[in-house]
Amino acid sequence: MESSGEDCCVKVAVHIRPLIGDERLQGCKDCVSVVPGKPQVQLGSHSFTFDHVYGSTASPSSAMFEECVAPLVDGLFQGYNATVLAYGQTGSGKTYTMGTGGRDSSQSGLIPQVMNALFSKIESLKHQTEFQLRVSFIEILKEEVRDLLDPASTGKVEAGNVHVGKVTVPGKPVVQIREASNGVITLAGSTEVDVSSQAEMAACLEQGSSSRATGSTNMNNQSSRSHAIFTITLEQMRKLDPIFAADGSPIEDMNEDYLCAKLHLVDLAGSERAKRTGSDGLRFKEGVHINKGLLALGNVISALGDEKKRKEGVHVPYRDSKLTRLLQDSLGGNSRTVMIACISPADINAEESLNTLKYANRAR
Ligand code: ADP
Ligand code: MG
Repeated sequence: MESSGEDCCVKVAVHIRPLIGDERLQGCKDCVSVVPGKPQVQLGSHSFTFDHVYGSTASPSSAMFEECVAPLVDGLFQGYNATVLAYGQTGSGKTYTMGTGGRDSSQSGLIPQVMNALFSKIESLKHQTEFQLRVSFIEILKEEVRDLLDPASTGKVEAGNVHVGKVTVPGKPVVQIREASNGVITLAGSTEVDVSSQAEMAACLEQGSSSRATGSTNMNNQSSRSHAIFTITLEQMRKLDPIFAADGSPIEDMNEDYLCAKLHLVDLAGSERAKRTGSDGLRFKEGVHINKGLLALGNVISALGDEKKRKEGVHVPYRDSKLTRLLQDSLGGNSRTVMIACISPADINAEESLNTLKYANRAR
């Protein structure tokens, strides 16, 4: 019997964007179809079923948020870490889907909707709970972690306090991934910004997005070869009614409930194969590194999704890449993960779209 997916910690959705201007100009045909009423995608003779499929006809973004991401935001308030991953070839709509494209694309994306949900929930709970929110925004390029909110390289950070404890090599902040004895992953040397309003959080998203785009001489390649990770950390201290001992004195440390959880929103590097990216040695090496992250991610998610393997205690290869290492405490275990596989419907992209569907299918 096929698993219902209900108890699985990884959900997979497919997002098919509409044909875009360039593709129309080239006379591309739509080669991807959705089976009506089913989360099923057809491409040529191939057919795949996922947890959700969002086609290009309806406006998918609010349904996608409600079905895929809102439960993760709710989970944060119960202390569960979570990860949302946008996977797909360059141009398939990852940045559009996540909302990491800066000013113009940011409104309909998932991250702005996360912010809306987060802040309205905080508003409704703040009479009984004290909240603290922090964000960080980093990218991984060539297995190196770069801080996209680094005040030194991006100008000023507008929001609240900034915590930086970094070893700075001029022009090149070094960020290191650390694992505490309790398994919590932290980034040493990356900027964490305390935010107290939605506007402050949006400013961080926009600042990091523009830093990502302008961080290289070749902006298109830069953002397609790196993984961008926007992380929201929610700390909460619930104010419970004081508990009194038998003699009427208040019992210390028992009248507060502390929870901390984080949500990673990941705009992954383009999944197209290295041979497409060019022939010179340097770029090939970058391609190999990107594939290292995506390859490791595929292996980790597939190990997590395989219940039989999980029960046998099979090794989950988090350590194989910076990406999976960084996401380690938010992939698997008690945490919730959604992968959104983005594809172009155009016939010229059929081969890459098929690769994406296969990768996503393996993750399920
Ligand atoms: P990626 O980040 O995967 O490289 P982008 O998000 O930059 O891809 O999308 C490529 C192009 O397609 C952009 O011009 C973007 O505006 C457009 N696009 C992506 N998704 C959609 C969508 N759902 N509806 C309309 N246009 C889209
Ligand atoms: Mg992009």
